[in-house]
Amino acid sequence: MINTKGETGIQDIKDNTRMVREVLCWVNEIMEKVYKTPDLGNKVDPLEELLYLVITQRTRIELARKIFEEFRKKFYPWEKVLVPANQDNLKQILFRGGRGNLRYKAVTEIITEVKKRVGKITLEFLREYSLEEAKEFLLSLPWTGKKTAYCILMYSLGHPVFPVDSNIMRIFKRTNILGPADVLLEGADHRTAQKRVAPFIPGDITYHLHVNLVMHGRKLCFERNPRCNICPIQLFCEFYRDSQYKESLDFRLTMVDLFSGAGGISYGFVKAGIRPILAVDNYKPACETYSLNIPWIDRKKVINRDITGIKNEEIKKLTAHKRLDILVAGVPCQGFSKVGLKSKPSLRKERPPEKEQVNKLFMEVVRWTEILKPSIILLENVPDMGSSKIFFKDSNVSVRELLEKNFARLDYSTATVCLNSADFGMPQVRKRLFFIASRGKIMPRKFDEELLKFWNELNKVTDKENSLPLKIALQGIPVLNPGEGENAILPLDNYPDNHDLKTRYEKFVYNNPRVIFNHVVRNHNDDDMLIISSLEKGENYKKLVERNPEVIMKRKRKIYSIANFHDKFYRLNPEKPCRTIVSHLSKDGNSFIHPFENRSITVREAARVQSFPDNFMFTGSRTAQFIQVGNAVPPLLAHIVGLFFAKLLEKEGI
Ligand code: SF4
Repeated sequence: MINTKGETGIQDIKDNTRMVREVLCWVNEIMEKVYKTPDLGNKVDPLEELLYLVITQRTRIELARKIFEEFRKKFYPWEKVLVPANQDNLKQILFRGGRGNLRYKAVTEIITEVKKRVGKITLEFLREYSLEEAKEFLLSLPWTGKKTAYCILMYSLGHPVFPVDSNIMRIFKRTNILGPADVLLEGADHRTAQKRVAPFIPGDITYHLHVNLVMHGRKLCFERNPRCNICPIQLFCEFYRDSQYKESLDFRLTMVDLFSGAGGISYGFVKAGIRPILAVDNYKPACETYSLNIPWIDRKKVINRDITGIKNEEIKKLTAHKRLDILVAGVPCQGFSKVGLKSKPSLRKERPPEKEQVNKLFMEVVRWTEILKPSIILLENVPDMGSSKIFFKDSNVSVRELLEKNFARLDYSTATVCLNSADFGMPQVRKRLFFIASRGKIMPRKFDEELLKFWNELNKVTDKENSLPLKIALQGIPVLNPGEGENAILPLDNYPDNHDLKTRYEKFVYNNPRVIFNHVVRNHNDDDMLIISSLEKGENYKKLVERNPEVIMKRKRKIYSIANFHDKFYRLNPEKPCRTIVSHLSKDGNSFIHPFENRSITVREAARVQSFPDNFMFTGSRTAQFIQVGNAVPPLLAHIVGLFFAKLLEKEGI
């Protein structure tokens, strides 16, 4: 992510180095899952490795391996190489496939030199040397450059060094992973690249990262025509991001995303052909997730700040005075939500919602509208927001009235609709209020009816797909126990194939990734496990205790009263749409127990329910990830609304 202040100091350099190392560890984890550190044919014996390296240099790997194997079969022990009568046979083997003369010279000169200096033909003694001593000796041998020496040090002698070969150099150049630490590789030769890259590779991942990156270079990141569309590290790659960004410059429509969160609305809108030109949020992990997953925006335009601190002139500068089509805002909802402040009488007294500053943030949308004059404004919140009263200019008014009044003053017509994701072919009951304002004649007279008509039209193209059951959202995700899981994990073999994808939701979410992200289960204590394992599908705590009262008798910890905690535990019903995914999942997953496994759902499963595609990766701690997923607008719902907006604007010639 971006440092919006544009300042550089020692702390920034440390932060950038830390960030680079974190990304390298992520990439290593992903690569390990995909390529599994295969045997590249390198040798345990250091001299054999040296001979292998000089023979395979600049030769097609399959042919080079054949040459080496034949050479070894006929000439090991290596003394045979120096026997004059063997020279014709040696040349015959080494001269295959071009560069034969160089290969022959390299092999004979190395063996002669080792014999001369060591007295016998072996480099085994290097195991007793320190890293520096071994490196110095190797570099003093003929035909042994830094890259070759590093390979022997790593593959044969087990030192934590990182050889940079042409595959690795190409991948680092394209991804620019080391860019934030100011490591430039463009135009650098091998020696320079080795010097610049190696210091940033954490010692414990050097071997695996090296081997897997070499594999990646051979399998996907080809010199010509790299296969970026199926690359598991595409989100970390500047080359891929650049191509996506350039493509989006042709999009007809633009948007600004306020309170953008992880980017649910932006992702859905981009898929509807609407390009984000600015995103603002004051929650750092959400900005990092946004920045990583939305390559269609200039990274510098993902701003991690409180929007109230962005002055009018700065807003104009940030949007480069460009024409804006759509302004969207998922205004924070804690104050209006039934599960937030509003629901707790004690907190209400201390902090009355009508006086909470956070509840006035939606007036920021009015301010931004005055400056940017978009054609359409979309404001999303919990259903209660419309009727909630706030204290504004000496009187209590409802949020909806206040918005309508202010947008009328700016000459916008408005509509307020409550949309349920389940009505739009998603496996989740999620009711949210959408306040829409638009200029001129863009807004249809009955917005909600027109939107539903539009959806039904879209729907006709595929099967009838309103309200999907939860089980549709859980296909291909690995089975786990509490406390298990990984940030990057292989999908199951039953991951749906393209031809299995019937509904719009499935086509949106299942994009056949090589790894699935954010699938880690929280731990549950033994007491809770007793309850969790006793729950039936669709059953909550109250119903369970009524059916089986003994279940709470064995508890060693607090026994929750049914009156106050009737829904404290709940096993999701696979045959129905999931209940609303909330950010409270960051604290406790007991009311989101997996329908088939005895554990709460993971961030990935919550993201699936929210219609985030499988290659969308959440950053930050698990708590931060759940907050981002719970607060997001489902990308698929945003996509449908975005398509509808695009149609309305096109009708008006915009
Ligand atoms: S996205 Fe493309 S260029 Fe980037 S690492 Fe992957 S294959 Fe290589």
